[in-house]
Amino acid sequence: MEYTLPDLPYALDALEPVISREALKLHHGAHHRAYVDKLNAALAGQQWQAPDSVEALVAKLKDVPDALREPVRRFGGGHANHCLLWQTLSPEPGEPSRRLAALIDRQFGGLDGLRTAFSEAGGTVFGSGWVFLSHNAVSGELVVFGLPNQDTPLSHGLQPLLACDLWEHAYYLDYRNRRDHWLRDWWRLVDWEQAEKRLGA
Ligand code: MN
Repeated sequence: MEYTLPDLPYALDALEPVISREALKLHHGAHHRAYVDKLNAALAGQQWQAPDSVEALVAKLKDVPDALREPVRRFGGGHANHCLLWQTLSPEPGEPSRRLAALIDRQFGGLDGLRTAFSEAGGTVFGSGWVFLSHNAVSGELVVFGLPNQDTPLSHGLQPLLACDLWEHAYYLDYRNRRDHWLRDWWRLVDWEQAEKRLGA
């Protein structure tokens, strides 16, 4: 089977001015597409049967044959992370559900505390990577941390709820070198309804 690039759930200019049309077009149509294409190329002609969903693929990295694990980690991670990113952005962001708000209050003392933890974790990712808000289904806690490259919380047994892409391709067109401004403005697009859905998944 082949993995496919999902369509964006909104128009290319829908996220302006936080993400410009040009930046979104390149990010989705070139960068995300490249992860999908390279993942398919790595798996082509292999005997090993990859799971249908890319989330299942990266959640079970240890089950992937040795020769495929690194390409799956990079390109499967890139595919999964970008799917998460597009799904959890919205031109109409709304507010956290009561359940999510209670968890955020308990863990971070409120939304401002979460934003601070997120910015700090994002600011300390060296080079390319991501920062995530994830749910630990075992402990019931929310956690914030950065990961390098295209690694994903799914490979650590956690359910990612929100993700901010810290690769330069995610923000350089619109924010130049100001990663901190990108991290600040990204919140204006957070789709809390999708975060809530992922919390229940
Ligand atoms: Mn990206």
